[in-house]
Amino acid sequence: MPELPEVEVTRRGVAPHVEGRMVSGVALRHTGLRWPFPPALPQLLAGHTVRSTARRGKYLLMLFDHGTLIVHLGMSGHLRVLPRDTPPKKHDHFDLELGQQVLRLSDPRRFGAVLWHAKEEGDIENHLLLRGLGVEPLGDMFDGQWLYRQTRKRSAAIKQVLLAGDIVVGVGNIYASESLFQARINPKTPAHRIGLARYERLAAAIRAILAAAIEQGGSSLRDFIGVNGQSGYFQQNYFTYARTGEPCRICNAPIRQIVQGQRSTFYCPNCQK
Ligand SMILES: [Zn+2]
Repeated sequence: MPELPEVEVTRRGVAPHVEGRMVSGVALRHTGLRWPFPPALPQLLAGHTVRSTARRGKYLLMLFDHGTLIVHLGMSGHLRVLPRDTPPKKHDHFDLELGQQVLRLSDPRRFGAVLWHAKEEGDIENHLLLRGLGVEPLGDMFDGQWLYRQTRKRSAAIKQVLLAGDIVVGVGNIYASESLFQARINPKTPAHRIGLARYERLAAAIRAILAAAIEQGGSSLRDFIGVNGQSGYFQQNYFTYARTGEPCRICNAPIRQIVQGQRSTFYCPNCQK
């Protein structure tokens, strides 16, 4: 599943091909993905220019003067920039045509989304899908203080609080396990029992791990452009994730796997207290 780093790398990859370009057409080859496509999308967008791109959580935003196109990659979606005459394949459900090129969304499982938010509907941050989102982990709002203050009344395990996404976005299953390891916090610890110093470590770990994933993905930017483009699921050298029973890279104790909220958590019982 594309996580925040993949979405950010996708944004950076497609940005030079869409920003400042006028939409010449829209192709809808299905009724919709997770939700129906707005049927009026072709008329809404044709002749309008993509002013800029942005990302909020895992939502990719294309900003026009009269509104915002919201794109979500779902479980299996990816975007590519292709020559306009490239024949669509089976799961290529949506094209944003930009003159000689198309921005094409392929989404085999159709859990993604393409939605339109008109300017008169108000600030995009208040969109139904965006307004409950926590702060951006790489933004100015996010630090140890923020985590500390937001968790004083949260008795759930810190791993699940991170995954909930209402305090900070983008800390998916892999990144939660890895950042808790780096911060030396046991994933089962109730969030309100964790003090400021440990949250400072956790915030720094989350930032570092996500930034590294984005940087690593940036080196494969060209993969987003071209017929064989595969949006990368960045192969990182994990400390805990999917390493059940293998020796901890710090202390050699076997990495443990538990289930929290139906998701696997990986941690070192020795390093993480
Ligand atoms: Zn260890």
